[in-house]
Amino acid sequence: MSADRLEVLAADDFDVLVRALAEGGREVLGPVLRDGVIAIGPVESAADLPQGWTDEQERGTYRVQPRADAAWFGYAVGPQSWKSVLFPARALLWSGAKGGVGEHGVEVSAPDRSAAARPRALLGVRSCDLAAIGIQDRVLLGRPAVDADYAARRADVIVVAVTCGFPAGTCFCASMGTGPAPRTGYDLALTELLDGEHRFLVAAGSPRGAALLAALPTRVAEDADRVAGEQLVASSVARMGRWLDVGPVPAALRGALEHPRWDDVAARCLSCGSCTLVCPTCFCTAVEETTDLVGASAARTRVWDSCFTPGFSYIHGGAVRQTTRSRYRQWLTHKMSTWVDQFGTPGCVGCGRCITWCPVGIDLTEEVGALVGAHVDEPQRQDR
Ligand code: SF4
Ligand code: SF4
Repeated sequence: MSADRLEVLAADDFDVLVRALAEGGREVLGPVLRDGVIAIGPVESAADLPQGWTDEQERGTYRVQPRADAAWFGYAVGPQSWKSVLFPARALLWSGAKGGVGEHGVEVSAPDRSAAARPRALLGVRSCDLAAIGIQDRVLLGRPAVDADYAARRADVIVVAVTCGFPAGTCFCASMGTGPAPRTGYDLALTELLDGEHRFLVAAGSPRGAALLAALPTRVAEDADRVAGEQLVASSVARMGRWLDVGPVPAALRGALEHPRWDDVAARCLSCGSCTLVCPTCFCTAVEETTDLVGASAARTRVWDSCFTPGFSYIHGGAVRQTTRSRYRQWLTHKMSTWVDQFGTPGCVGCGRCITWCPVGIDLTEEVGALVGAHVDEPQRQDR
């Protein structure tokens, strides 16, 4: 978070921010407690936030628990990332109907993207997820083939980030250089402080954020506010659940393609694809074609796919990656090595979701450590 101009917003005035975000009919989405997890949902006031709740996460384990304090953002990340909003699991690409004037009497229509393009505010974006949005921007907008649905969803989005003060046991953003404090890619960045007065440090990261901030009933941050914010970030780094010394990993993984560890992890992996679905950067998709029962209309829909499915690498008569060993190797080497060649950064932002939501508890950091000898640490494991 930029320390250039830091303001303080009292928790009692938080709804002024929510109302400012909602101006003009903008949809405000943020963390809500739903179905036993901290999910993404509509936020109309601070009362919708998961006040007094936290999440406990370890490999293959997620539980929400009441907190001892009344923090509103006192959790790490839920199973949903902002990918579910900006790059949803299903998106119509086109539809067609017989009886039109086009070739063969079929009229092909582009999808109505007005709902996709609705102005939105994303409230409570963690720094790992900010980095993930940046990665998806590069992949889906920064190449010649722009994803039209993603572009529509991304066109008018206000991002309100929140410093992560309570990382989960599966988090390792600090070692990936993506957290726990927001750095870039936000309009406003908040840091929730609970010492004494419940308040938020607020920094603007864009002209639009500065205009929003100027309209809020804030006061200038004092030294004590800044120090409290810095202490929160330092304690968050110290309590990060995992650490992966990522520097040498991309090159080292290229030399580990025949390592026996791939057989070891393949014996545990179910090839279920859960890790790719919860991952905020995974962007692989397939297309589905459907028709009505009389063959008068058809539609093509983009759907999330996973490199763990046999069909994902199917070409003219067979799957290229027929074994779980080859699929796990593809996923991990892409995330941590070849992604760097393609897009300039690893495809992993250290959110830990794939570790938490793997049904058999496979831990990406542990696998990387075993494969390339990278330094891996779990300072919190004994405490959780
Ligand atoms: S690979 Fe795992 S830890 Fe890394 S960004 Fe994806 S879900 Fe998060
Ligand atoms: S690593 Fe875990 S989540 Fe991913 S495919 Fe294998 S079993 Fe499923």
